Amino acid sequence: MGSEARQLHLFFFPLMAQGHTIPMIDIARLFAARGNKSTIITTPLNALHISENIDEDKKSGLEIHLETIPFPAVEAGLPEGCESVSSITSQEMVFKFFKATDMLQQTFDMLLDEQRPDCVVADMFLPWTTDVAKKYGIPRLVFHGTSYFSLCVIASIFRYAPHEKVMSDSEIFVVPGLPDKIEMKKLQLPNHGESNEKNGFTEKRAKIQETEVSSFGVLVNSFYELEPAYAECYTKDLGRRAWSIGPVSLCNRNFIHKAQRGMKASIDEHYCLSWLDSKEPRSVLYVSFGSLSRFGTAQLHEIAMGLEASNIPFIWVVKMPLNKEKDQDQILPDGFEQRMQGKGLVIRDWAPQVLILDHPAVGGFMTHCGWNSTLEGISAGLPLITWPVFAEQFNNEKLVTQVLKIGIRVGNEVWNSWIEPENVSVTKDRIEEVVTELMGKGEEAKNRRKRVSEFGEMAKKAVEKGGSSYNNLSALIEELRAHSPQSTHMQV
Ligand code: UDP
Repeated sequence: MGSEARQLHLFFFPLMAQGHTIPMIDIARLFAARGNKSTIITTPLNALHISENIDEDKKSGLEIHLETIPFPAVEAGLPEGCESVSSITSQEMVFKFFKATDMLQQTFDMLLDEQRPDCVVADMFLPWTTDVAKKYGIPRLVFHGTSYFSLCVIASIFRYAPHEKVMSDSEIFVVPGLPDKIEMKKLQLPNHGESNEKNGFTEKRAKIQETEVSSFGVLVNSFYELEPAYAECYTKDLGRRAWSIGPVSLCNRNFIHKAQRGMKASIDEHYCLSWLDSKEPRSVLYVSFGSLSRFGTAQLHEIAMGLEASNIPFIWVVKMPLNKEKDQDQILPDGFEQRMQGKGLVIRDWAPQVLILDHPAVGGFMTHCGWNSTLEGISAGLPLITWPVFAEQFNNEKLVTQVLKIGIRVGNEVWNSWIEPENVSVTKDRIEEVVTELMGKGEEAKNRRKRVSEFGEMAKKAVEKGGSSYNNLSALIEELRAHSPQSTHMQV
């Protein structure tokens, strides 16, 4: 910038789950790279991963700090050390986990009182941060970590409740007030089979919707050119103040950042890259279902057989069963890995995802439609096979397949818990069919590739100087500076 500007101090308070923490660290980096001070608030076990992630930033002179607060796991009825959503092994633990996050309110209040930052960027699942921040006159920005499209779908369903007017879980309803005709089924909505009253999520959802409006605004990890009609719908029709500043994953430019994003990969990154180097351009399918989704053995076997039958080279990230008693060797069909030597690479647990997606040998991505993965795939210009499982992933699937037309549905219809469902929802024949279609040379496959590669180019431009996301971040920083006169002056 070169001019004298006020340094802001921002608090970043992510939910303790990789899919929420990873983009929040990127956002903290983006603010720090503009000369501001970023403090990430987290709990002791999560701090271990995050400090490895931000070490490089600190060495390069960015002001990124960690503030560690205790997590009341035991007080909320969880086992000691259960500080991350990835440690949850039952539905009951989900509710206890959210109870524990609610119990952080007092500590957060004390931190704000002590440090008086200029702004709080807090996860959607911590809606109470808005009121605590307000008490000190500090603006709070909400971070959902999903697309404008999905935010519009959620707000519309919350406002008009079209799902309450259908007779069955599988009856189609139209989501009102959206730029396109978007049809959904109750089956695709979170916890459709349970009483939300009972599990307490109804109240939480209402509070989240309310804080979208009562907060300073909403930070969106997307870029305007990807979903302009939905950016307009969200801000103009639904009346939210929002800044899209993504794709935030693109701030990871060097090898270490890409390789260690989230946590240390369970494969040597150099081996992984040299494996990819040996493959033809755009020939490899990357298969991953995010940081939480696990499949039972029967579904894993179908995936393995489908991939093998397709004859397409692949990298497949397999999450190990939660039940450690299970024979780890049995989770894949007999001899599968030996037969796939040189053809397919299985990574157990954690892959260096953005490093893989950015490699020129990768030509497609089978994804669970978590928004980070979806956007990372789009940024790398890759067509997608969509296999939504839980959260708002069915919404993202509709954006990808119906609005952007850059993906093929595998056909899973039913929202499920990420906690190791035992049923098979997609057979090996269907997997073979979609993989062959996505990676093939058909006209539609070529068009899909062309469209998504254009979006990939737009994504890169959006975060470059002068791009839409870059400018949105500049405007937001200016607005926050104007809002908060309390920081000291510095040269930026
Ligand atoms: N991720 C990764 N390696 C893995 C699995 C996930 O780096 O083996 C990263 C991925 O790049 C993304 C995040 O973890 O940034 C997952 O977020 P997403 O929204 O896609 O799904 P979630 O994990 O929240 O279901």
